[in-house]
Amino acid sequence: MVEAVIIDGYTDEPAGLGVPPYLDAIQRYVAGAIWTAEPSWDIKYFTIDELRNEPEKGLKVANRAKLVVFIAGTTVPGKYLGGNPISFRELITYAKLLDRPLKILGGPASRFGFGIEGGKAAIPRRALEELFDIVVYGDVEKVVYELLIERLAIERVNPHEELKRTSKLHEEFAVRGAHIIRDHPEYPDHLILEIETYRGCPRAFYGRACSFCIERHYGRPDFRPIEAILKEVKALYELGGRHIRIGRQPDIYAYMAEGIGESEFPKPNVRAIRELFEGIRRVGPHLETIHIDNVNPGTIAHWPNESKEITKIIVKNHTPGDVAAMGIESADPNVIKQNNLKVEPEEALLAIELVNEVGRIRGWNGLPHLLPGINFVYGLKGESERTYELNLEFMREVLNRGLMVRRINIRQIMVFPGTDMWDVGNRIMKRHKRLFKVYKERMRKEIDLPMLRRVIPSGTVLRRAYVEAYDVRKRLTYARQMGSYPVLIACPMKLPLREWNDFVVIDHGYRSVTGLPYPIPINRLSPRLLTRIPGIGRGKARKILMMRPFKNVKEIVEKVGLAPDEAEMFTIK
Ligand code: SF4
Repeated sequence: MVEAVIIDGYTDEPAGLGVPPYLDAIQRYVAGAIWTAEPSWDIKYFTIDELRNEPEKGLKVANRAKLVVFIAGTTVPGKYLGGNPISFRELITYAKLLDRPLKILGGPASRFGFGIEGGKAAIPRRALEELFDIVVYGDVEKVVYELLIERLAIERVNPHEELKRTSKLHEEFAVRGAHIIRDHPEYPDHLILEIETYRGCPRAFYGRACSFCIERHYGRPDFRPIEAILKEVKALYELGGRHIRIGRQPDIYAYMAEGIGESEFPKPNVRAIRELFEGIRRVGPHLETIHIDNVNPGTIAHWPNESKEITKIIVKNHTPGDVAAMGIESADPNVIKQNNLKVEPEEALLAIELVNEVGRIRGWNGLPHLLPGINFVYGLKGESERTYELNLEFMREVLNRGLMVRRINIRQIMVFPGTDMWDVGNRIMKRHKRLFKVYKERMRKEIDLPMLRRVIPSGTVLRRAYVEAYDVRKRLTYARQMGSYPVLIACPMKLPLREWNDFVVIDHGYRSVTGLPYPIPINRLSPRLLTRIPGIGRGKARKILMMRPFKNVKEIVEKVGLAPDEAEMFTIK
C-alpha cells in the first residue's frame, strides 16, 4: 500500500532548478524526511506531467494514501522543453479532487507565493491556504517529518519550521531521499540531480539585497558541510545517478566564504571548494556530468586571484559545456544604484574575462569547458530606454573584446512579496513592453547569433546529445546535451527518440544550432542537406549524388576527391 505521495509540480528558483531533466533537491529531501520518520512507508513520486497524462490513475493512488505532498513554485521566469510546471489552476483542481489524504503544499509557491510568469506579480500564498491542510512557510521536509513524528496531528506542527543545512537530520534526509530518483521518468540516463551546497546570500545578509531577489528570506548563509554533500552525491551515484549540477546556492564561489556578515563580498574559500570538487570526483568517478550554476560576478571582481584558483579547480574536476551563470541584471548605473545590484559594468567585464581565460578551452563534447552565462532583468526601478541601449552596448563590448558567453537570459521581472520591488510591482515592465520586445530581438540578432557562431562554429561535433522530440510540422528532430543550459540542436532529419547521438553543426539560429547526425549518413542525406555540410560545396555534392550509394569510406575519398580526414565525417550506413 502506498502511504505517501509526492506530486512534483516542478520548481525553479534563482538558486535551484527542478524541471525535467532536472530533479531538484527539495523533492528528494521530502522523500528522505518520510523515510526517516517512517522507514517502512511506501512512497509514490509523480511528476506533474505524469499526472496530466494519467490523472485518474495518479489521483486514485493519491486518494488512498495517508499523506500527499505537493511541491511547486517557479520564482524566476523560464521556458522549458522537458516539462511544464504546474499551473495555479491545476494546483487548485488537483487539491480539490483529493478529499481523503492530508494535503501539504511545499516549495517556493508556499514560501514566497505562486509565480505566474515574467512581468507579473506573484499570487500571494494566502490564496492557497484553504485548499491544503498545511501550506508550509518554512522547510517542507522538516514540517513533513514533524507531522509524521506527531502521528499526523496537524495542530501540533508549526508550518514555519526551518531545517538548518548543517544539521544531522538534514544530512539524513538527503541521503535517504536519494532513493526516490528511481521513480523519476528520466531515471537513470537522462536525469540531472540538483545538488545544494548552501542557501542564503552573503551579500543580502550584509544588508545589500538586490531589489527583486527572494534569496534574502533564507537569512544568514547556511553552508552544508562538505562531508554531508559528498555522502549525498555518493548515495545518488550508487543508485545510478550519473548527472549532477552543483546548482543550489546563490554563488558557488562563495561556498564556505570567510567573513560572512563582515563584508558584502566575503573572501572565497579556495580550500573548501577544492575539497568539495575533488571529493565529488572521488565518490562519483564515472559521473558523466558535473556542472555548476550561479556565480556572483562581484565575488570574482573583488577576489580575482582566489576566483582564478577556484575556476581552475572547477575546470579540472567538472565536465565540459559548463556555464557560470552570472546575474549581471543591468549595465545601467542608474538601475544598478536604485536596485542595489551587485556589479558595475567594468567589474562584470572583469569577471567574464577571468572565466574566459581559464574556461574557454574546448572539451571532449565539443564545447568550451566553462563559459559565463549572462542574466539581465527588466522592469527594475530606474529603468528607461537608455537601460536597454546600455545593456546592448555592454554585450557589444563583450563581443568586441573577443570574449565568449554561453547564453544570455533576458528576463522580465517576477515580483514577489517581501522584496523591495513588491511596492513597485510590474508597472515599469508594463510600460516598457514594446521596448522589451524590440531590444530582445536586437540582442538575439546582434549579439546571440555572432556569439553562438563563435562558441560553436560550423563543423563542431557535439558529442552525446539526447534526442528528445520530433516536430512533425517543421520536420525537425530536437536534441540536447546533458548539463547546464544545453544548446538546442535542431536536426532536419527524423531520428529515433530517446537515443544518444553525436551531431555536426552546420548552421546557427539565435539560440540553437542546426546539426546533422555525426558521422553523416552520406547515402541517405537529401541533396539540399548535402550542400549545407561545411566544406562540401555544390560541386562535391553533385558528385556525391551521382556516385552514391558508397560501400565504404575509401570509396568516398576516391570517387569524390575528399581528403581522408574530410571523408571521416561520413558513414555509409
Ligand atoms: S547577489 Fe542579489 S541576486 Fe544574487 S542572491 Fe544575493 S540578493 Fe539575490
